[in-house]
Amino acid sequence: MVKNTPLIFEISEKGRVGYSLPKPLYPEYSVDTLDFSLLREELPNLPETSELNVIRHFTNISKLNFGVENGFYPLGSCTMKYNPKINEEIASMGIFNRLHPYQSVSSVQGVLKIYDELQRMLSNLSGLDEFSLNPYAGAHGELTGLMIMKKYHEDRQDFKRTKVLVPDSAHGTNPASATVCGLESVEIKSNIHGKVDLDSLKAALNDEIAGIMLTNPNTLGIFESDIAEIAKLVHEAGGLLYYDGANMNALLGVSRPGDMGFDICHINLHKTFSTPHGGGGPGSGPVGVKKHLAHLLPNPRVKKQDEYFYIENSKEAIGQISSFFGNFKVWLRAYVYILTLGKENIVNVGPYAVLNANYVKERLKEDYLLPIKGFCMHECVFDGLVDQSTGVRTLDVAKRILDFGMHAPTIYFPLLFHQSIMIEPTETESLLALNHFVDVMKKIAVEAKENPDLVKSAPHTTPISRIDEVFAAKRMILTYKDYLDAQLDTE
Ligand SMILES: *Cc1c(COP(=O)(O)O)cnc(C)c1O
Repeated sequence: MVKNTPLIFEISEKGRVGYSLPKPLYPEYSVDTLDFSLLREELPNLPETSELNVIRHFTNISKLNFGVENGFYPLGSCTMKYNPKINEEIASMGIFNRLHPYQSVSSVQGVLKIYDELQRMLSNLSGLDEFSLNPYAGAHGELTGLMIMKKYHEDRQDFKRTKVLVPDSAHGTNPASATVCGLESVEIKSNIHGKVDLDSLKAALNDEIAGIMLTNPNTLGIFESDIAEIAKLVHEAGGLLYYDGANMNALLGVSRPGDMGFDICHINLHKTFSTPHGGGGPGSGPVGVKKHLAHLLPNPRVKKQDEYFYIENSKEAIGQISSFFGNFKVWLRAYVYILTLGKENIVNVGPYAVLNANYVKERLKEDYLLPIKGFCMHECVFDGLVDQSTGVRTLDVAKRILDFGMHAPTIYFPLLFHQSIMIEPTETESLLALNHFVDVMKKIAVEAKENPDLVKSAPHTTPISRIDEVFAAKRMILTYKDYLDAQLDTE
């Protein structure tokens, strides 16, 4: 097993401390005066070390990681883009740090105003009428949106509608959210152009369909040009249209899901609207709906009367899906981002995102197999190297990219191809950065011919080289004890 940095437990020395507390102001209330039954029998196993060692430890660990601020991060279906520093500056202002969710409504009018304004900005950008900022993530937004869909049918006493159509190119969270919501997902095939196959769709439509979940442009980076027809068919069959707007970059300033016929959508603020992804969170997945569904949006809601904001909990709503109003500081950052760009610049997001993806696609298509030709949206998908004779596979290419100080694209997704490489450069990358990435990808294609073993054994410069993925999946090291056991085994 590769050992890079000692664990914090391994630099622990008995008795070493990193703090000194002031003398207690009320010595009569100390641990010694606590009821014996409240005390733990054994001391917790906490590391003991100095402040300097703690700082070194975490700084060193942070260097083993790779983020959007280390280099190009072209993960597809995941919009990893620039997190502007002005967002952080505003979000860390003391006035926002001291907020408490139980403050009186009259003392948080400004915050509620931001909620209201961001909600209206998202409405303008998406063409849906009303938003809730409460969901914590994209998948959470999907669940919220599907709960709205389900309740819409139930409120009309139409209990048969329990099936949700999901194209085979969809993000894995779509069928998962449907299942969590108690609905059944039914897969719809894509045609050779990577779009929904209309005949498969027609065959699947009946009076048990609650709706369809679509991503447009879909996860192949292809725009569903039949969307108007799809919307008509699904609506005529009594279903609703759900829009997965996790990565909405391509649409900003160009097109709106509301105008395409969608009834419900979620938007990932941690993708399209530049807030950090964090270590799996915190995120924000606001959900928007058309007017006829607005009464179902989750509680609590921010409402306005005569310039005064108040909070409403409605009985008609699907209920409450988050502790308060979601991740306030995340949606605050998105609000700052939208204001920073302004009306005149936000319309460039879509065109630049599309331009960058097409530039990369066109420059790489001689070396990497392009299964779906033609114009793409914000991301493009290759199916491995053109020259398959070298035995170098997508995984090897992805690992080799790491050696050049960049993150790998998404690989082996979508599942429509065997060697998928899905690249989303985003609108915030410069021509210089794109050219560097293209050069590296071309260099790897040459290496695959001339020295395939170099690529197959990559990465060579990262803290951990190629891992045995099967072994790692079978023998997971998730706790300190697992780690110690694994070490014993290899000794
Ligand atoms: C990222 C993503 C999701 C899920 O969003 P999370 O915030 O990770 O839950 C859903 N759909 C698509 C297309 C995505 O790219």
